[in-house]
Amino acid sequence: MDFSTPDHIQDLVKRTRTFIADEIIPYEKDPRWGEHGPSEDLRAEMNAKAKAAGLFAPHAPKEFGGLGLSHLERSWVFEEAGYSLLGPSAMHCGAPDEGNIHLLNEVASPEQREKYLKPLCQGARSCFAMTEPDGAGADPTMLAATAKVDGNGYVINGRKWFITGAKDSTFVIIMAKIEGGPHDGEATMFLAPMDDPAIVLESQMDTLDTSFAGGHWNMRFDDLRVDADAVLGAPGAGFRYAQVRLAPARLTHCMRWLGSARRAHDTACDYANTRMAFGQILGKHEGVGFMLADNEMDMRTARLSLQQASWLLDQGDRAAEESSMAKVQCSEAIWRIVDNSVQVLGGAGTSAHLPVERIFREVRGFRIYDGPSEVHRWSLARKALKRAAARNG
Ligand SMILES: Cc1cc2nc3c(=O)[nH]c(=O)nc-3n(C[C@H](O)[C@H](O)[C@H](O)COP(=O)(O)OP(=O)(O)OC[C@H]3O[C@@H](n4cnc5c(N)ncnc54)[C@H](O)[C@@H]3O)c2cc1C
Repeated sequence: MDFSTPDHIQDLVKRTRTFIADEIIPYEKDPRWGEHGPSEDLRAEMNAKAKAAGLFAPHAPKEFGGLGLSHLERSWVFEEAGYSLLGPSAMHCGAPDEGNIHLLNEVASPEQREKYLKPLCQGARSCFAMTEPDGAGADPTMLAATAKVDGNGYVINGRKWFITGAKDSTFVIIMAKIEGGPHDGEATMFLAPMDDPAIVLESQMDTLDTSFAGGHWNMRFDDLRVDADAVLGAPGAGFRYAQVRLAPARLTHCMRWLGSARRAHDTACDYANTRMAFGQILGKHEGVGFMLADNEMDMRTARLSLQQASWLLDQGDRAAEESSMAKVQCSEAIWRIVDNSVQVLGGAGTSAHLPVERIFREVRGFRIYDGPSEVHRWSLARKALKRAAARNG
């Protein structure tokens, strides 16, 4: 096994690290970064810098100006992007756009690629509407939004919430259940432009996190009329496509948040190296040193786990179990690292004058979205039990 970082990626990693440190971290004090993410003009300004540095949308297909990075290649670059919470927005490699680019690249028709994927790769924003206040959540089969067959198209109705980046998105991917016709009752994905008046943004949600461009939204579809060619891929394949999107998307979350956790850890190490307590630097107190050592081990196992799952995806494997395991391992390790970092920093760790407080708020949600830890464990356990039953005849 070769665990080395390929040469061409080493250069990209170095350039990304320098770009984040020199160009993006200075924006962290910019008032245009509010509680609901960076404003659109701040995002545009950072995007222009990423484009100039040749670091914009590195995961996007080359035909649309990206670098076409493989899943494993993304792991090194996205970790660097995540070193600043603004990095993924700046490089246009954050959620939900990055996952939507992957999904459209896999299943969109030639017309949909031109109409939606191309502008998305070039900097437009998009959203993904699946979760519902009284329907789909951890259990997506509770999907309540409907797409009623109507002539040569569908009429979509339903409410969604937590829809990241809905404001200022140019289009939305909607998950809804078909009513009528040969696919009656089957979950399906639809593409719709956000400027359709039947798409109503009800209200912005106040959440713990602050880095997603556009924040998160309550939204609804009021008799949204779409033609048959608005179906993404095939009718009835919604849950299958959700998996196509989710396995890589949860890994890229692991990569970016690992970068943020490393930033928190670095900040804690710097403090522990200089701050005195009881006659010596904090880091020499075993209680502090052990927290830092635990962080080092957590970062290492998280990185190895996500890289192995990414490598499997690159081999054409679905990596369903491995990406599930990596998601739980990484989201929980990242949480421990950032929590330890706050502890080592004392009061300063909870204050906005260091980046760690914001990182702490940011990473908590990751144990919930892209499948809560409990649901992944539940699913992994079911598979383990099935294997055991098969072993025993
Ligand atoms: C920051 C953020 C961004 C998001 N962005 C989007 C987005 O862009 N688009 C979108 O569609 N959604 C988005 N979501 C929603 C997210 O996908 C859901 O929150 C997630 O799927 C969980 O669904 P739920 O909130 O309805 O929790 P519920 O389904 O109500 O579950 C609540 C809790 O129940 C427990 N639980 C559930 N099932 C089991 C089980 N089998 N065994 C044991 N415990 C269980 C888990 O602890 C879970 O956390 C986002 C959420 C957050 C926090």
